[in-house]
Amino acid sequence: KKLGIALVGLGGYSSGQLAPALQQAQHCYLAGIVTGTPAKATEWAQKYNIPQKNIYNYENFDSIKNNPDIDIVYVVLPVSMHKEYTIRAAQAGKHVICEKPMALNVADCQEMINACKKANRMLSIGYRLHFDPYHQEVMRLGQKQVLGALTAFEAANGFKWGNGNFDAWRLKKAMAGGGGLMDMGVYTIQAARYTTGKEPIAVTARQEKLRPDVFKEVDETVYFELEFPDGLKAKCQSSYNNNWSSLKATTQKGSFGLDPGFPYNGIKGQSTLGPISYPPMNQQAAQMDDFAQCVNSGKATRVPGEEGLKDMKVVEAIYRSLANGGKRELV
Ligand code: NAD
Repeated sequence: KKLGIALVGLGGYSSGQLAPALQQAQHCYLAGIVTGTPAKATEWAQKYNIPQKNIYNYENFDSIKNNPDIDIVYVVLPVSMHKEYTIRAAQAGKHVICEKPMALNVADCQEMINACKKANRMLSIGYRLHFDPYHQEVMRLGQKQVLGALTAFEAANGFKWGNGNFDAWRLKKAMAGGGGLMDMGVYTIQAARYTTGKEPIAVTARQEKLRPDVFKEVDETVYFELEFPDGLKAKCQSSYNNNWSSLKATTQKGSFGLDPGFPYNGIKGQSTLGPISYPPMNQQAAQMDDFAQCVNSGKATRVPGEEGLKDMKVVEAIYRSLANGGKRELV
């Protein structure tokens, strides 16, 4: 059965990536929307042929429970709203995809996992790169030690915040939980974890703030080191003030890396074995199709809520290190 997805929050990511990806998906389709803006409801209904009965706002959202067209709710809201809408969706009997970063803190992540478990619904996090062939190759090279064990790892992800939009939710701590680290840094934490196939045990971190007028409440650039049980130190950096996007692993017998590493399209890869190259694909379509197949077959998703929680544990340790003047903090 082709499953119906309802997108909650029709901002940049829903309109620019997820809705177009759902036009290409094989195992799911855009069945419904949840929006607080009536004009968007009208526009989307026309553009994507969505019946009126599948359009909800934030007040009547819970009645989605009675709508058999909707199998999966995809939460694409500011971070501070992820927990509430994930839990409400699960309690309405829907499976849930929640965008990254999963929530404001570890405790909220745990509550979301518990609520979905209790409602017997599947929960996954929008970690699109697990479905990208370049990142799957990085996982293979790293975890299977194809070029030997890792001796070093570096990853950087960020973008330069423009001159404007200074009241955006991403700049407000209460809505975003943090700045570049929460938004862009999670990709580098993910990359360090899935390249090594291991969990970091400790972190050290420092930060840089060149535009304190813009980043009043949240971090701008954070440099952090993840320490793994075998002694490997992964050097990562996140930013709202630099256009960064790369990862590189050095191994006993060579190296491999991606640069750019984290975009939706146009990733480029290189290893000691030669260029890493794959035909273009749609990460989001692959991600949502995989989840629909998991729901249909009962197979576990490779990006469950627990993945988001593990990253949030690392994020919290990094913020503790920043607060403690760069002291080593256990994850
Ligand atoms: P956005 O600001 O473009 O959209 C947010 C949406 O939430 C808007 O439609 C807005 O109207 C709605 N909203 C509802 N209540 C709101 C409130 N009280 N305050 C502000 N907005 C409110 O943001 P976005 O870029 O679409 O990001 C949404 C989520 O998707 C975030 O969690 C973000 O991290 C994630 N995201 C993920 C990726 C990815 O590659 N996986 C890419 C971009 C964004």
